[in-house]
Amino acid sequence: MGEPRPIGTLKARCPACGSGELEITDYLYDAPLVGLLLLSSGKCSVCGYKYSDIRMAEGGEPERVEVRVEGAEDLDILVIKSSTATLEMPELGVKITPGPASQGFITTIEGILRRVLEVLEVLCEDPSTSREECARRREELEKAVRGEKPFTLVIVDPDGASKVVRDRESKEKLYETLRAVEATRP
Ligand SMILES: [Zn+2]
Repeated sequence: MGEPRPIGTLKARCPACGSGELEITDYLYDAPLVGLLLLSSGKCSVCGYKYSDIRMAEGGEPERVEVRVEGAEDLDILVIKSSTATLEMPELGVKITPGPASQGFITTIEGILRRVLEVLEVLCEDPSTSREECARRREELEKAVRGEKPFTLVIVDPDGASKVVRDRESKEKLYETLRAVEATRP
């Protein structure tokens, strides 16, 4: 199996501090049974902002992927969400749209639910947020994390650069590689 191969480094504008010192390195990785991935990783030397993206290198056409989550066994489906994709879970009232500082990530559906829960906790610290609404949404998300609430996850990517990976062998190999890539990050 191949290793992620660095293909170049460039300097970009940092969305956090506006300097031109965000240094991004791109890697190509041919993931077995998944396809060619473009991994990007960067850090701003002025403010420390970190950037990362992951996308299918051979995407192209706009794409809409729907995953039905029926129970706990579906929560470890891997999701590659590129920085250009919108992610929605309509039954849970969740929509993540790409902004100027949007990043790409790879994680399991459970991982996405846990991130959403973290964001919810931050929102709920704001005293203007309704207590009842917070409690209701938290309960729904926690049910979903336990696999007790079926829902649909929708990924809309205008670049076709996102992907859902269900196959166990592909998932394990991808995890291994991504840990290796993570270790090389600045
Ligand atoms: Zn910066």
